[in-house]
Amino acid sequence: MDQLRFDGRVAVVTGAGGGLGKAYALLLGSRGAKVVVNDLGGARDGAGKSANFADAVVKEIQDKGGVAVADYNSVVEGEKIIKTALDNFGQIDILINNAGILRDRSFAKISEQDWDLIQAVHMKGAFKTTQAAWETFKKQKYGRVVMTSSNAGLFGNFGQANYSAAKMGLVGLMNTLSIEGAKYNVKVNTIVPTAASRLTEDILPPEMFDAMKPDLIAPVVAYMVHESFPDSGNIIDSTLGFATKTHLVRGDGAPLRSKPSDPVTIESVKQHWADAVNMTGAKHVEKLTDVTLDLVQKLQDFDERV
Ligand code: NAD
Repeated sequence: MDQLRFDGRVAVVTGAGGGLGKAYALLLGSRGAKVVVNDLGGARDGAGKSANFADAVVKEIQDKGGVAVADYNSVVEGEKIIKTALDNFGQIDILINNAGILRDRSFAKISEQDWDLIQAVHMKGAFKTTQAAWETFKKQKYGRVVMTSSNAGLFGNFGQANYSAAKMGLVGLMNTLSIEGAKYNVKVNTIVPTAASRLTEDILPPEMFDAMKPDLIAPVVAYMVHESFPDSGNIIDSTLGFATKTHLVRGDGAPLRSKPSDPVTIESVKQHWADAVNMTGAKHVEKLTDVTLDLVQKLQDFDERV
């Protein structure tokens, strides 16, 4: 297969000074993209800042013959990061929303500050960068965006209520942006990575930590932002050189009464509950109108049947 390249494309990778973002930036830079290496350079709980993280990655890309500039803004001021791309390279084609922090605590111990900072970096950060790039994407009828979620958000994880909420929120953001971007050839997808980084060094078992290299996930994300990538609105889980898709499914449902003229009561709900939540034949919902049409159809079938 011909090498998939990014010549002529400008990519912004947030949080690219370390971990996964660094692997994404290095790979894109090695394949011809001009890269904005954004990183605030703080601690893993979001405290502090430094230019060292982003500078080191820019140097590595340049040393290998690539083109990159550093950006030290917080994603909370995402418009400044997009401005760095436009000022330096005159365009933006690819945005990987990767920056992230952790403030893990069991739910009762989460302070308002822990909550707000996690939402700010993950959710508001992705909103600010993506919205700032959106007009350009629409005008040029081209854009590739990746959000970064987590299995902790999709499935829950003890001690990560603030993080889980933000990470699932990003899936909601992707869902709607993939619809709004469709007619402009703007594709928005979500990566769910599991990799060795400073965020996971005390979570992953040591024998797995060494094997879970961010380099094994970078090609997946790079393909997701390539012009040939066919899909939008997908949640792609990747680790250890493996990729799979996760999506929500909706059950077939069931009437909550025996005939249309009966009232729905708490008791009738209890009586029909097992059928209502039975997931046999559950399907993925492609678009919201499918839910409405499905409900109208079911109502008609129910009326006719009894
Ligand atoms: P990491 O700490 O190595 O990288 C995150 C980078 O984001 C850091 O370099 C940090 O300085 C930067 N950053 C933090 N706040 C920022 C801000 N406000 N503005 C700009 N940059 C900021 O961690 P990682 O594991 O590489 O995480 C990357 C992303 O992947 C995060 O969104 C994380 O939540 C997500 N994730 C990681 C894993 C995993 O297994 N490593 C699992 C699920 C999700």
